[in-house]
Amino acid sequence: MAIGDYYELLGVERTASEADIKKAYRRLAQRWHPDVNQEPEAHDRFKAINEAYQVLSDPERRQRYDVFGVAGAQAEPGPGFGGFADIFDAFFGGTQGGVRRGRPAAGSDLRYDLRITFEEAILGTQKEIEFPVLARCETCGGNGAKPGTEPITCPQCNGRGEIRGVRNTMLGQMINVTTCPRCKGDGRIVETPCETCRGEGRTERKRTLQVTIPPGIDEGHQIRLSNEGEAGPRGGLAGSLYVAVHVTPHQALRRDGTELIYETSVGLAQAALGTTILVPTVEGEESVEVKSGTQPGTEIRLRGKGVPYLRRPGQRGDLHVIVDVAVPSRLSRAQREALEAYADASGEIVTESTSILDRVRGKKA
Ligand SMILES: [Zn+2]
Ligand SMILES: [Zn+2]
Repeated sequence: MAIGDYYELLGVERTASEADIKKAYRRLAQRWHPDVNQEPEAHDRFKAINEAYQVLSDPERRQRYDVFGVAGAQAEPGPGFGGFADIFDAFFGGTQGGVRRGRPAAGSDLRYDLRITFEEAILGTQKEIEFPVLARCETCGGNGAKPGTEPITCPQCNGRGEIRGVRNTMLGQMINVTTCPRCKGDGRIVETPCETCRGEGRTERKRTLQVTIPPGIDEGHQIRLSNEGEAGPRGGLAGSLYVAVHVTPHQALRRDGTELIYETSVGLAQAALGTTILVPTVEGEESVEVKSGTQPGTEIRLRGKGVPYLRRPGQRGDLHVIVDVAVPSRLSRAQREALEAYADASGEIVTESTSILDRVRGKKA
């Protein structure tokens, strides 16, 4: 059975809460449990539901999956979701028993650390990356056998990759399953090894990839490119490549999820009379009006100038401009006179014409 979209499998929206996902999973797991459901597809369906739940119930993995859904699609080498097979195996066999039955082990996952700018993280970009990887051997096509020869079915386990031993004990028959020592679980053996890879089925090469960075990605996010990790030995499935994204901070803008924050200040007179300021956005500077009578801490919101939502394409957060009012700590004579005139006019009682500092100095003298 092909593994479809995890959200579809569980019958939940992409925005579903953790509680909703859990509820949907419980309901479906009861319905499709192979002990209960005799339909032929029950076993596979049950596995797939479990897989979807394992990913969607873990916030970090769910995010990774969401990112992959948006970004990885373009970099995905094969059609459909075939690449998920390796995750599938990690849940149901690969890591649990440590042994895969009757076929070669999968290749390792790889991690690539990629640094991008603040703007690139918000607007999205394309990056070319290059890295060394154990790739499928081109001489033998990955099976490890010298061209013109074929791997043969392991005679010790008949291709099963495991040996079953039956022991009679007081408690009844015990079945003991071990990995076949001859083929090491592959189920096949290479009699005449390929000379290029010495029967390994893979060689070290440099790989160059175009990675699509979706708009809205953030520090610490990972993009999963299935099948771009290490090739498995002797034709085993390839691992995944995880591109771990690192974002260089912006000099003036701060990011909080989908919101951008710009903190600035205007002068006393600007706040009272109004002015226009230039605000940096990821698309360039923008003129923003500061209205007369602006109070310290006022927030001006630039709608849709924040960060795109990864989960809701087309939607974007806002840019919040926080305007503080800078009270001058020093006044020239002209400024002081002007402010005194202002105080007079508005009936504010102020210190006489000397500042506090001047009076302190005067006492000491
Ligand atoms: Zn080879
Ligand atoms: Zn064997």
